[in-house]
Amino acid sequence: MDLYNSATHRKQPLRTHTPGRVEMYTCGPTVYHYAHIGNLRSYIMEDVLEKYLRYEGYDVHRVMNITDVGHLAGDTDTGEDKMLQGAQREGKGVLEIARFYTDAFFDDCRKLNIKTPDVVQPATGMVEDYIRIISTLMDKGYAYFAGGNVYFDTSKLEHYYVFHDHDEQDLAVGVREGVEEDANKRNQNDFALWFTKSKFEDQALKWDSPWGVGYPGWHIECSGISLKYNGEYLDLHCGGVDNAFPHHTNEIAQSEAYLGHPWCQQWFHVHHLNTNAGKMSKSRGEFLTVSLLEERGYDPLAYRFFCLQSHYRKALVFSWENLDNAATAYQKLIRRVAALQPGDGPVDEEVVRAYREKFIRQVGSDLNTAQGVTLLYDGLKAQANAATRLAILEDFDQVLSLSLLEKGAALREEQARVQAAQTQGGYTVTGEGDPEIDALVQARGEAKQAKDFAAADRIRDELKARGIEVTDVPGGAVWKRI
Ligand code: AMP
Ligand code: ZN
Repeated sequence: MDLYNSATHRKQPLRTHTPGRVEMYTCGPTVYHYAHIGNLRSYIMEDVLEKYLRYEGYDVHRVMNITDVGHLAGDTDTGEDKMLQGAQREGKGVLEIARFYTDAFFDDCRKLNIKTPDVVQPATGMVEDYIRIISTLMDKGYAYFAGGNVYFDTSKLEHYYVFHDHDEQDLAVGVREGVEEDANKRNQNDFALWFTKSKFEDQALKWDSPWGVGYPGWHIECSGISLKYNGEYLDLHCGGVDNAFPHHTNEIAQSEAYLGHPWCQQWFHVHHLNTNAGKMSKSRGEFLTVSLLEERGYDPLAYRFFCLQSHYRKALVFSWENLDNAATAYQKLIRRVAALQPGDGPVDEEVVRAYREKFIRQVGSDLNTAQGVTLLYDGLKAQANAATRLAILEDFDQVLSLSLLEKGAALREEQARVQAAQTQGGYTVTGEGDPEIDALVQARGEAKQAKDFAAADRIRDELKARGIEVTDVPGGAVWKRI
C-alpha cells in the first residue's frame, strides 16, 4: 500500500522491517475523561488502516498504551497531571478513574466496531522498563538530572524536528496549553523523562528510582511500551496530528538515542475533528461522546460512516447537519442491503475478486476510505446476482466495518416479521429495541383495536412525555426516540 509518511513528507509504498509483517504502534487514550468523538476519529481511521493491512495479507501486530500516569495538561511538561485533575474532579482515586475511563473507552470502541489491538498496556504497568531506558540514556549522555527531575538533552541530537510540515497551529496546540517555563531545562525543547516530587508534592502514583521517588514522563511510556512489544524496529506509528509535536518528536529522540539506530519507518497522523470553535478537546469547551450521540438517537456506526467519507489527512468539521446527512445515507445503504435476498444462486468468485482488486488499488492509495464508500455503492450495482453483490459488500466490510450485512439481515427479518403479522391480522411493534417501550406501544395498539380510545390516548401521552414518537403502520406501529 502507498501511505503518506509524515517523517519523509511524502506518499510512499509501505516498507516493513520483516517482509509481510507490520509492527504497528498506536498512542492510546489518556484515561482521565471519556474519549470524545475527535479522539475516536483517530482510532477509527487507525482501525481501518490496521484492517486494510490485514486485508492486503500483512501479518499485523498492533500495540497500544493506556496513558494512566505522566501526561500533564500542557504537553511540554507544564500544568497539572491530567489523571490527578480527573481524580479531583470526581473525588475518586487515580486508579479508579483510570479503570473506569479505560472501560468506557473500550465500550465506545466496541460500539464503533474498532478492534482491540493485540496488546494493550497501561503505562503504570511498565515503570521498571522506563527506568532502565532512562538509565541507559543517562549513561550515554543523552539525559541529565536537574532540579530533581531527569530531562532529555535535545542539543545532543543532530536532528530533533522531524514533522515540521504540519500545520503550525496543530503543532502549537500542546505548547499553548501550558505557559510556565521550566527553569531546569538546558534547552527549550528538552523534555522530562522522570519527575520527582519537585514537580508535584502530592502525586498519587509514585515509584522508587535511582533519581528519587517519582513518576515517568508521558513520552517515555510510549517508547518503552513499543520497544517491549514491537521490538527495536517499529514499522508504523499512529496518532492524532496534535501528537506529532512534541510527543512523537520526543518518542523518536529518546528511542533512537537509546537504540543507536533508526527506530520507526512510517508515521501516520490523523487530522483533527473540529467544531466551529476549533479542535475538539477534552480540556477545553464542549466535547461530544458516543453516549451523547446515542442519546440523540444516532447509531454510533453512522458516526463511523461519517468519518469514512472523508480523508484522514484533512480536518473534518463536525456539525449535527453533517452527521444527519451521514446517518441518512447510512440508513439508506442498510435498506439497500436488506433489499438483496441472499441465496439466489452461487457467488460469482470472479466478480468478487475483480472488486477486491479495485478496492486494493483505490483504498490502498493513502487509505482513501471515501473511495471505499463509493465502491460499496458500486458493489450494490454489480452486474451479478444478489448473493455475489452481498459477498462483495461482506468483503469490503472486513476493512470498513460498518456491519452492513448484519444490519441488512436484521432489517430484512424485521420486514418479514411485519409482513407476516399483517397477513395474520396481528399487531407488530417495531422500534429501537427497548422492551419497556415495545410493551407500551403494544398496549396502545391493543387498546385501539379494542376501541378503548381513552386508554390509547393516555398511553400515547405517556410515550410522548418519554420522548417517543409512534407512527401507525398497517398491522402495527413503529416507534423512535426524538
Ligand atoms: P488523548 O486521550 O488526549 O491522549 O488523545 C488520544 C488520541 O486522540 C491521540 O492520538 C490524539 O492525537 C487524538 N486526538 C485528540 N484530539 C483530537 C481531535 N480533535 N481530532 C482527532 N484526533 C484527536
Ligand atoms: Zn504516544
